Amino acid sequence: MSHPRTVLVTGASRGIGLELVKQLAALENGPVHIFAACRTPDSATALKEIARAHAQVHLVKLDTLDDGTISSAVNEVTTILKSTDDGLNLLINNAGIFEKEGGSCPGGERASFQRHFDVNSTGVAMVTQAFLPLLTKASSMSNSAKMGAHKAAIVNISSGGGSIGDNTTGSSVFNNVAYRMSKAAVNQLTKTLSIDLEKDGILVVSFCPGWVQTDMGGAQAALTPEESISALLTTTFQLTNEHSGGYFRRTGETIPY
Ligand code: NDP
Repeated sequence: MSHPRTVLVTGASRGIGLELVKQLAALENGPVHIFAACRTPDSATALKEIARAHAQVHLVKLDTLDDGTISSAVNEVTTILKSTDDGLNLLINNAGIFEKEGGSCPGGERASFQRHFDVNSTGVAMVTQAFLPLLTKASSMSNSAKMGAHKAAIVNISSGGGSIGDNTTGSSVFNNVAYRMSKAAVNQLTKTLSIDLEKDGILVVSFCPGWVQTDMGGAQAALTPEESISALLTTTFQLTNEHSGGYFRRTGETIPY
């Protein structure tokens, strides 16, 4: 199992994104560049502490709703990668929202539905297309015949709540159909890009991290970020051709779309 040399994580200021950066930075023979992308790097205290301890961690400003910050993030990452002549091996689209009110139906608010879609699906598509040239570069520079996170991969942090095939609970668990819809939409992006990008050697998957103790998951959630992300990264590093287009639990079991 070889690790990616270069990784970018969105929504790295807290929760699952922060834990991804923390564990990636601690890997033995881990990435030489970890781009921790977040909306407000200046106030990302925990992230800044990780960057102080690990020179390979770079804080990058990126709001997935703001095209200006997406393109300046691409420029910043491109400049840093030029120093080692690398592309981007792994893009982890983690930034997401779950609004406690407004996402139900009946009782929904149009603006809340739109915000869920903006961040959880449209934002992922915009970030992905912006970083595609760097992913393609990484793929073309790799001498590996196999697809994977060591070569070029896009990991979309979805949710089991996005599964239509597995939906046996209606609104009783989430009471937020807007969230479910936006995660089902990002899963369609995963499947479509996996087909379109196969020729470029870029692997694309969706993951559910499990129910995790973060601001979004709440303190009563089943898993600590450490537990969720150590499993998710182990599975990520084992992904190869036959997994592209898949939708997985952190431990690698398939979730029905
Ligand atoms: P948190 O609410 O704890 O953190 C969300 C992160 O997303 C923050 O870093 C936040 O940044 C960032 N973010 C939100 N909007 C934007 C934006 N427009 N641009 C950039 N960053 C943004 O959530 P989790 O860490 O729990 O969730 C991470 C991912 O995992 C999400 O996609 C979520 O749907 C998914 N997930 C989580 C589960 C759980 O139980 N926790 C279960 C299933 C899926 P900021 O600090 O600036 O607000």
